Amino acid sequence: MKNYRDDFPILSRTVYGHPLVYLDNAATTQKPRCVVEAISDEYYSVNANVHRGVHYLSQQATDLHEAARETVRQFIGARSVAEIVFTRGTTESINLLATSYGEAFLHEGDEILVSAMEHHSNIVPWQLLRERKGISIKVIPITDSGEIMLDEYESLFTPRTRLVCVAHVSNVLGTVNPVGEMARIAHAHGAHIFVDAAQSVPHMPVDVATMDCDFMAFSGHKVYGPTGVGVLFGRESLLEKMPPYQGGGEMIARVSFERTTYERLPYKFEAGTPDYVGTHALAVALDYVSKIGMEYIARHEAELTLYAMHRLGQIEGMAIYGTTPNKCGVVAFNVGNIHHLDLGTLLDRLGIAVRTGHHCAQPLMARYGVEGMARASFALYTTTEEIDALAEGIEKVAKMF
Ligand code: PMP
Repeated sequence: MKNYRDDFPILSRTVYGHPLVYLDNAATTQKPRCVVEAISDEYYSVNANVHRGVHYLSQQATDLHEAARETVRQFIGARSVAEIVFTRGTTESINLLATSYGEAFLHEGDEILVSAMEHHSNIVPWQLLRERKGISIKVIPITDSGEIMLDEYESLFTPRTRLVCVAHVSNVLGTVNPVGEMARIAHAHGAHIFVDAAQSVPHMPVDVATMDCDFMAFSGHKVYGPTGVGVLFGRESLLEKMPPYQGGGEMIARVSFERTTYERLPYKFEAGTPDYVGTHALAVALDYVSKIGMEYIARHEAELTLYAMHRLGQIEGMAIYGTTPNKCGVVAFNVGNIHHLDLGTLLDRLGIAVRTGHHCAQPLMARYGVEGMARASFALYTTTEEIDALAEGIEKVAKMF
C-alpha cells in the first residue's frame, strides 16, 4: 500500500504527547489536502449562489455544482443525474425518503422491513412515518455472528410488504449484507428496497445497478468529503411519482397563490440554496479515492480487518461483536468487565481515538445484551502499526483493572 498519509495533514498531529492513532473512521473520515483546498479555493475565488445568476461567478459555481452531480452519478453507477439528489447527509436522505415515499406509496396497514442491525437514522424516520400513516415495521433478524437471516427475511414478506430498509455495511458489526440477493427477493415480492450505503461507499466499489436497489443514500463526510453534504439516489420512475419533501426556492417551476408547479428532477427535492461548495468538495473527494481505486482501498481495509480480528482476538477477555468473515472496516468489542467508556477514555490518553457507546444502534446493543461497545474503524490511511498500537493500548488498560 502506497503511503497516502501525507495527503492528510491532521494525521501527523499528536494527542497527549502521543502520535495520533485515529480509529474512528466510521464516525467520520479525515480530509485530504485537496478537499480542504477545494473548499477554501471556491470561497476565495468562485463563490456565488448557484442556478439563479446570469453573472460569471454564478455560472462558474453552478458548473462546479452540476459537475459534482455527474461525478456522483458515475461513482455509484446511476443512469441519470436526475436520480442524484443532494442532501445534508444520509440522515436527511432517509428522512426525505420516508416522508416523500411514504406520502406517495404507503397506506395504513402497509408493512416495511428493517434489519436488526440498522443505525437509528434508518429506524426512527420509519417510526415517525408509522405514527403518521399507521404502517407497521417488521424486524429482519440476524445471527449471533451478525449476518442477516435470509430465510427469515423472505418469510417476513406478505402482500402488504412495500419496502425493505437495510444497511449495506453495518456501522457496528462491519457485516457486508447481501443487498443484491435481498433486492432480488424484495422485487420478487413486489416490494422496493432502500440501501443505507453510509458505511459501504467509503470502503468498496458500490454500484446501484449491480445492487439493483431502488434507493440508496450516503454521506460525504464518511468518504473523505466535507460535512453537511450527502446524496439520495432514487430510481427516476419512482422519484417522479414522489411529492417534494420541502418547499422553497430552487424546487419550483412556477409559483402563484392559486397553484404552484415543481421543477424537474432532481431539483424538485432540493429546496433552498444547496451546499454548492460542499458538493464540489465531495466530488474532489470522490475523484481522490477513484484515483487510488476503490478495489485497492477495499483490499487494503479487508487485510486490516482480518489483522485486527486476529490481533485483538488474542487479548484476554476480548469479546468481538460481528464475526462473519464477510465484514469490512469495523471491529466492535468489549474487554472483560471494563466499561467501554473507561476503555475509550484511557485509550484516548494514549493518543488512540476509538468510539464508545451504543453507536446509534440501541436495538443492536439489545440484541447482544450489552449497553455499549468500543469500536475501532479503519480507512485507506490506517496501518497495521496502528492496530498494534490499539492492541498494546488495550492490554495496558486491561492491566489497570
Ligand atoms: N447509517 C449508517 C450505517 C451510519 O453509520 C451513519 C453514521 N454513523 C448514518 C446512517 C448517519 O449518517 P449521517 O450522520 O452522516 O447522516
